[in-house]
Amino acid sequence: MKKILLSAIAPTGSLTIGNYIGALKNWKDMQGQYDCLFMVVDMHAITVFQEPSSLRSRCFSFVAQYLACGIEPKQNTIFIQSHIPAHAELAWILNCWTNIGELNRMTQFKNKAKKHSSNINAGLYVYPVLMASDILLYQTDVVPIGDDQKQHLELTRDIAVRFNNLHKGVFHIPEPYISKTGARIMSLLDPKRKMDKSDSNPNNYIALLDEPSVVMKKIKQAITDSGTEIKLDKTKPAISNLLTIYSCLSGMTLSELEEKFKNKNYALFKKELAELLIDRLKPIQGRYKKLIDDKNYISAILEEGAKKANERANKTLRIVQKKVGFIARGKVEG
Ligand code: ATP
Ligand code: MG
Repeated sequence: MKKILLSAIAPTGSLTIGNYIGALKNWKDMQGQYDCLFMVVDMHAITVFQEPSSLRSRCFSFVAQYLACGIEPKQNTIFIQSHIPAHAELAWILNCWTNIGELNRMTQFKNKAKKHSSNINAGLYVYPVLMASDILLYQTDVVPIGDDQKQHLELTRDIAVRFNNLHKGVFHIPEPYISKTGARIMSLLDPKRKMDKSDSNPNNYIALLDEPSVVMKKIKQAITDSGTEIKLDKTKPAISNLLTIYSCLSGMTLSELEEKFKNKNYALFKKELAELLIDRLKPIQGRYKKLIDDKNYISAILEEGAKKANERANKTLRIVQKKVGFIARGKVEG
């Protein structure tokens, strides 16, 4: 039996090389080894206002980008979160197993509340509990995450342990998987901040669907540090970030790169990085262009994914409902 791996991306903004390096690339590398569930989490996305027709087309586009990045639909379960009612149902139960104090400590809530101060809704606040439900429903073993999600996974584990203390063995306790390099890609104009796909300034990120000329322009504009040396250093956050991107995409180690760019200037380094990015994005964009026009194919994948995911999720949900004292549905309905 393969271990169960679950990972998700919220359909907001444009998928970036941060998402690629921190999530999609790892998914591709891990897909044969694990029983993988890959979601587009539209229920998480609406914690921030989304224009309905854009959300719909973005969900399709993200699935097409997953496929274009090499995620195999036959080998994995690919689905949209809202197609599985069990996520919302378990989230409600787990809300009742989560303390307000725990939610108050979530740094992502604090950051997002600051950013969206005119819409601090209850969904944004209980988002980590929905994420816990996403993970626990499938008895997940491994959750590949960037370090921005560490705190949420810790909370998931705490909730699961708390529930299991009263109801033995209901939830499998998931482990985080954090890739060694590039766990966190930083913004191009402000390397102290994470690269976010929903950033209001697109010059902060490279999108997977950015045209070559746009990639070149954004890398040229990317901020650099004082001095001239191209090396990984705490005092050089901008160059360190660009080197990390280079390393993750080329497979070369950071020390190999420091050697390669010894005595070279920033302009040359940036040009080579932009060329590498363009080269890596080209096949993804080529496959994407074909896929996005085939809505029937994508719909069929989502239908199949929802069928498989519903079956699995409902198994856990029914156990949990029974444990908390809900009457079995069959007995009422039948
Ligand atoms: P948003 O701004 O909407 O929160 P995001 O880019 O943070 O967008 P998420 O949907 O929150 O994207 O996360 C999707 C996946 O991508 C997660 O596994 C997350 O850890 C990973 N990820 C997101 N940003 C980065 C980054 N800058 N570097 C590495 N991994 C990242
Ligand atoms: Mg995020």
